[in-house]
Amino acid sequence: MGSILVLGGAGYIGSHMVYELIDAGEQVVVIDNLQTGFREAVHPKAVFYEGDIRDRAFVDSVFEKEDIEGAIHFAAVSQVGESMKDPLKYYSNNLCGTEVLLESMVAHGVDKIVFSSTAATYGEPESIPILETDRTLPTNCYGETKLSMEKMFHWTSQAHGLRFVSLRYFNACGAHPNGKIGEAHNPETHLIPLILQVPNGQREYISIFGNDYDTEDGTCVRDYIHVNDLVQAHILALDYLRRGGENNIFNLGNGVGFSVREVVETARRVTGHAIPEREEARRAGDPSTLIASSEKAKKVLGWKPQFGDLNTIIETAWNWHRTHPHGYQTK
Ligand code: UDP
Repeated sequence: MGSILVLGGAGYIGSHMVYELIDAGEQVVVIDNLQTGFREAVHPKAVFYEGDIRDRAFVDSVFEKEDIEGAIHFAAVSQVGESMKDPLKYYSNNLCGTEVLLESMVAHGVDKIVFSSTAATYGEPESIPILETDRTLPTNCYGETKLSMEKMFHWTSQAHGLRFVSLRYFNACGAHPNGKIGEAHNPETHLIPLILQVPNGQREYISIFGNDYDTEDGTCVRDYIHVNDLVQAHILALDYLRRGGENNIFNLGNGVGFSVREVVETARRVTGHAIPEREEARRAGDPSTLIASSEKAKKVLGWKPQFGDLNTIIETAWNWHRTHPHGYQTK
């Protein structure tokens, strides 16, 4: 068996992936342009190449130097708000980057890819919980590019025999229980790390975006899934492709929804801090409720999430943010 190439292995989910693969005894090669990732997040046992996947000569050189068996692809920009202001950045990084990567994979006979997709491919849900067979009608450019990437894998598969698994994540959160890696975005836009900035003394209050949604307490409901559970599903997807499994798409979530208020309340309990809140207007483009059905991943891949409890999820996140208030930067 050759190495597994992790594209975007210095990012939040990618870095957790690399730790999990190395723990599972795999050889790992990482490509990251460090535009949003951090060199310090890359496991010391991984072979690291700094560069951009839109650079064909660079990507080819990695395939030529290393014996790559398959790829796990996280190398993308992923902020919904930014994707609406600068859509072409999303087309360039996400679509052009993936196109170059696939050209190089086909040229070097690498035929397996596990792909980091998103619940944003669905847009406003038709019904809850969301099934993989539901309508995909993204409401933002980020989700649109991820859906187009899935289609690029499909057509490349038809023509060149590549096989893929696409994993549509709901709300990724938490940090590795080993305390060495965690979530670090600049700027931070996600709910849990923003909440934890309050007990960390970096923010005075948490904003609650919208209190008039059609939900029990009026705030948005999301399906929060721990990053280690997400990466575990990629290990299973890789095994599935190694066993000859056909192209497939799976949702990854806990199948349970928590409102923004419930998340804030849980963070208060975990941190022992009052965490003041302020109610604000709705954020553009937020659907009221997103909850996954992950029955297919459980049945076909044998996936069993271990961190289903929101308390545990927030404990792991707090353990990371408390000890790394500036992420990988020292100040
Ligand atoms: N949210 C909020 N205040 C914040 C950040 C987020 O109320 O400061 C809400 C947001 O409107 C959404 C939920 O928290 O309903 C989760 O947002 P996040 O950005 O973490 O993930 P998304 O659901 O956009 O992928």
